[in-house]
Amino acid sequence: MAERADARHRVVIVGAGFGGLFAAKALRKAPVDITLINGTSYHLFQPLLYQVATGILSEGEIAPPIREILKRQDNVDVRLGWVDDVDVEAKTVSASALGIDYTVPYDSLIVAAGASQSYFGNDDFAEYAPGMKSIDDALELRARIFGAFELADLATDPAEIERWLTFVVVGAGPTGVEMAGQIAELAHRTLHGQYRHIDPRKARVLLVDALPAVLNTFGDELSTRALRQLHLLGVEVELESKVVGVDRTGIEVETPRGRERIESMTKIWAAGVAAPALSRKLADAAGASVDRAGRLEVNPDTTVPGHPEIYAIGDMMSLDRLPGVAQVAIQSGRHAAGQIKRRLAGKETGQPFTYFDKGSMATISRFSAVASVGRLRLSGFIGWLMWLAVHLLYLVGFKNRLTAVLHWFVSFIGTGRSERVSTVQQAFARAAMREYGEPVVAGRAGERAGERAAGPAAGRETEPAGRAPESIGSPTAQETAAR
Ligand SMILES: Cc1cc2nc3c(=O)[nH]c(=O)nc-3n(C[C@H](O)[C@H](O)[C@H](O)COP(=O)(O)OP(=O)(O)OC[C@H]3O[C@@H](n4cnc5c(N)ncnc54)[C@H](O)[C@@H]3O)c2cc1C
Repeated sequence: MAERADARHRVVIVGAGFGGLFAAKALRKAPVDITLINGTSYHLFQPLLYQVATGILSEGEIAPPIREILKRQDNVDVRLGWVDDVDVEAKTVSASALGIDYTVPYDSLIVAAGASQSYFGNDDFAEYAPGMKSIDDALELRARIFGAFELADLATDPAEIERWLTFVVVGAGPTGVEMAGQIAELAHRTLHGQYRHIDPRKARVLLVDALPAVLNTFGDELSTRALRQLHLLGVEVELESKVVGVDRTGIEVETPRGRERIESMTKIWAAGVAAPALSRKLADAAGASVDRAGRLEVNPDTTVPGHPEIYAIGDMMSLDRLPGVAQVAIQSGRHAAGQIKRRLAGKETGQPFTYFDKGSMATISRFSAVASVGRLRLSGFIGWLMWLAVHLLYLVGFKNRLTAVLHWFVSFIGTGRSERVSTVQQAFARAAMREYGEPVVAGRAGERAGERAAGPAAGRETEPAGRAPESIGSPTAQETAAR
């Protein structure tokens, strides 16, 4: 491949999630100029989003600024922007941020745009059952969850109180299990004794899944242990139950007993992922294919067919049925960086990406987790210690690790939750975006409105006209948010 003689090799990386960030770090000492373009100004540690949604951690602890992480890496230029097009002939990417459009040329391109939420063709469910993919999602869920207890306390009709105190989590994978477990702990432990008109311990937490097991990919043994621990926490698990309808006040489910309705004001969607729109765009531009989930089908070395200079990695790549987990993204990011370094060193490239499975884990409640590492199957406290160690290792930044540990101390040893503040803007965001449009977030055309660009302007756009920010304690606010 012809290199420009006059300048250093230009690498553009799209996405600063696990894949993009680790690729950039792996190129630290390489003779390249990197432009790292990300739709938000922060790197998001998605595995802990549920802790933001349930008031354990602050959003800052799981979303450090990309610039700060890479400030000592001189060969990286971090740019805010949503990449909406790749010109594979001209070798440029086009991006936009808050109404500013720009184009960046590349010699090598690494695309690591992750995945977005899938409602399996029922996108209207999103209005009443937010997903868990972004900081916006987590803050909105936090507002809805804590707001539900406030409104239950104000309600006088027993049926209404029950509706506010019923929480339905759809999807019994790791995210759903963690979410259900944390809401149960919140209701039964943290909030106990804080309300005068309701008993939060009477809250119902339901976990619904169409499959016959929780944590389906963890195998029978851990799945059974997780189910037992969920039952001990008081979570009602409805398996082989398919959600067929979601509305403001409840959810319709096809269960083995027949079609049933669950009255609930707070629904959380933790099922299904789909590739971002950029995946199909890039595939079309490069003449490549996507799989059923829209993920780009790559060569064994993670390059896009016909384009040895373009790598698609992480959640958005389809290769050997690898799962959409952080380790696949990290390792494929490092692999792509390694291939670029080899090429620049004049070495042979095209080595296939080999994934080293370090195992998987999910927490169920404080001091209780399940972990599968090689042949080892751990659960309970030992599983939880392992979970703690791994999350501390991969949380980015010493400061974040320190404050996360403090907050875990508050929540797990004590009974508190350090982050219970919610604002009307957070609860209203989705409805307001729908009503007023997304004038400044233009870069994600074709995608569901989930993650928003960072920056004060984006926040301002979410505030409904004529309403001053106020506490979520207002019934009008929460009722409207839940609508
Ligand atoms: C709630 C939740 C819990 C999870 N728990 C676990 C867990 O416990 N263990 C585990 O291993 N995995 C877990 N995962 C999966 C894991 O987070 C992903 O596999 C991993 O983040 C994938 O990394 P990535 O770099 O491919 O994508 P991401 O980390 O999603 O990063 C993609 C980045 O690209 C940016 N981006 C997207 N589109 C564009 C664009 N067009 N232009 C510019 N920037 C763009 C995004 O802003 C984002 O920063 C979880 C995921 C979720 C959502």
